[in-house]
Amino acid sequence: MHTPVVVVVSLVPIPYRIVALVQEQNNLFAYPVDRLANIIREIGFRCTCCAKCCTRAFNGHVFLLDRDVAVVKTIDPAALEPAPGPEFCDQHGTFYVSGYALRAQDDDAGSCWFLENGRCRIYDRRFSICRIYPYMLHREADAQGSVDWRQISGLDKHGEYNHEISEDECRILARETKEYENAFLTQEISFLEFMQDYFSLHRLRHVQKVYDDRVRQLKKGTPVTVMVYSDGQLEEHRVTREG
Ligand code: SF4
Ligand code: SF4
Repeated sequence: MHTPVVVVVSLVPIPYRIVALVQEQNNLFAYPVDRLANIIREIGFRCTCCAKCCTRAFNGHVFLLDRDVAVVKTIDPAALEPAPGPEFCDQHGTFYVSGYALRAQDDDAGSCWFLENGRCRIYDRRFSICRIYPYMLHREADAQGSVDWRQISGLDKHGEYNHEISEDECRILARETKEYENAFLTQEISFLEFMQDYFSLHRLRHVQKVYDDRVRQLKKGTPVTVMVYSDGQLEEHRVTREG
């Protein structure tokens, strides 16, 4: 559900990646709330409760902020799994990823763990990204590779448009969207800073060849160790298949 602002490439040294994310955060701060509010108002999106966004078939995985992970742990810890696409793999074959995602059910659509009969069974406690979707405010490449701000996810692929939304509501949505994007970037930066220190302290380094070998082994069913960054520390998991 969330595509990182900057394409994360393990070969790019960590300090450069931190600088790039801080720059993205500065760009986000500079983006006027009113501009986003106007776009929200012009598009006039209305949800039709089709629940497509709660499936991996439509939206990929649901990445969780630390504050969401704390909530999931009180509801059902089994709903957590390491987010797919770990950023690093050390020379010993251990993966590192910046956070958790919501587990999917074992159905064809990859329905969210909490989706039941087309409805969210924890709707009042749903997570940060679930609350702002389909609004977003980050830069990503389109099909032609051109990087620009995106404000609505899956435009024209779900919901209804051209509905009246009050100015106040648009401004609230815009603020909440900016707040989410900032929290996401803050978590990513915190992860990279932590990894920089952790790798240095434990004499570890990212090795792309080991990463690729381990991914191949995982696809054949060999379990791998994934360390998940959560609330300022790493939590260890054994993973037997790709998320
Ligand atoms: S937690 Fe609820 S709203 Fe969020 S993806 Fe899952 S079913 Fe959908
Ligand atoms: S946000 Fe879009 S995809 Fe999700 S339930 Fe509403 S209309 Fe369907």
